Amino acid sequence: MFRIFLLFLFLTNNILSQTIQKCKFRFDKYLNYKNTLNNRVIFEKNVIYLLDDKGNKETAIYENEIALLADFFSNSDFKEQRHFIKQKGLKNLSKQQFDSIKVKGVNKRKLSKKDKNLKLAGYRIAIDPGHSAANLTDAKIEQKFLYFVKDSVNSPNDTIKLFESVLTFNTALLVKKMLEEEGAKVLITRNQDNYNSFNCNYNYWLKYHKHRVLDSLKKSDIISVHEHKRLIKLKDRDLFWEFFRDFDLNNRAKIMNDFFPHASLVIHYNVDEKNNPWKQTTKKNYTMAFIGGAFTRDNLTNYENKIHFLRLLLTDQLDKSEKLASSTVNLFNKYLNIPIASQHHADYLAEKCLNTTSSGVFSRNLNMCRLINSPLVYGESLYQDHETECVELMKMDLNYKGVKTNNRLLNVAKSYSQAVTNFLLQE
Ligand SMILES: [Zn+2]
Repeated sequence: MFRIFLLFLFLTNNILSQTIQKCKFRFDKYLNYKNTLNNRVIFEKNVIYLLDDKGNKETAIYENEIALLADFFSNSDFKEQRHFIKQKGLKNLSKQQFDSIKVKGVNKRKLSKKDKNLKLAGYRIAIDPGHSAANLTDAKIEQKFLYFVKDSVNSPNDTIKLFESVLTFNTALLVKKMLEEEGAKVLITRNQDNYNSFNCNYNYWLKYHKHRVLDSLKKSDIISVHEHKRLIKLKDRDLFWEFFRDFDLNNRAKIMNDFFPHASLVIHYNVDEKNNPWKQTTKKNYTMAFIGGAFTRDNLTNYENKIHFLRLLLTDQLDKSEKLASSTVNLFNKYLNIPIASQHHADYLAEKCLNTTSSGVFSRNLNMCRLINSPLVYGESLYQDHETECVELMKMDLNYKGVKTNNRLLNVAKSYSQAVTNFLLQE
């Protein structure tokens, strides 16, 4: 009897996770930023419509297709997804299309446990350590560094010098070690603390790759002749912000997605936004994490974004990301002893994010939160410019299995590693 009940529970769970109702719930909770998508997405009894800019129906997803499409999105790459959705339009999937997706639909994330003694054997985890600048020239362009004298009166020679790119990379190395010890396969999107995902620094990229890359984008019609001309002429700093930053983030996400990870970690270190231009310390310190969602009406004018939106609407990646992110934030709070942020603690939390039901976890339409095709946590464990934190982060006084580090980074890494382990084993 109990077995039958379990089977029933399993079936109901599966069916429930694939209904229009469930998608509507996800839409309201995570995706629809302050109701701005009300006229862009319509939920009817048996169908979900996505509308174009003029209000015409552009894509239809019928209830009987949701489960299959959720599987399709999890097991295909972006190009296949875009092609498929464009072809589908408002049509119902034919029996033939249904069968062909089913046949092709190999579950890329199926576990193949090799070593039964290791609890994470068979799992793949992708890590993106944020940013890339680790020298002052590159860092002044990227603007992710701290460089100031902490106390010019009493100790004028004590300089605070921190590159976020180095902190995130060193954390990623520690998390990788911890997870590999449990048998997981771990991918990091860049090879060195001063590299981007093309495995060079920005200066090198400008010198040896810029022209080749822009020419090839023009040749394949991804950018127009006019845009190519404009980008070629831009100053290095402007090219970074108008082109390279997104180009690098897209590549990071692609590297991660090609690995078909069971979970992804995006590692960042935060600052107190009110302390701009960060030439002194702050007394504030909060811990938080982001997951995908919070799309605005403008976000959906871009066709590529619509495909990511559909994936987030139809799969259960957002629900899973909330679980992983919540566990990460709670461990940051426990191991680092930093209070968990609420929406009123920062303007970007109030203005760009949606609260989830888990404290310290916010839906935000950041590039990486939107592009990564797996459950994820985008962690902002601490404020680097906090008065004691900046001093602790400069230290290199610990050695964790060959990796030089300090107590704060080690605790951040421990939090990510435990959170992702618990998340995967509860799945
Ligand atoms: Zn960052």
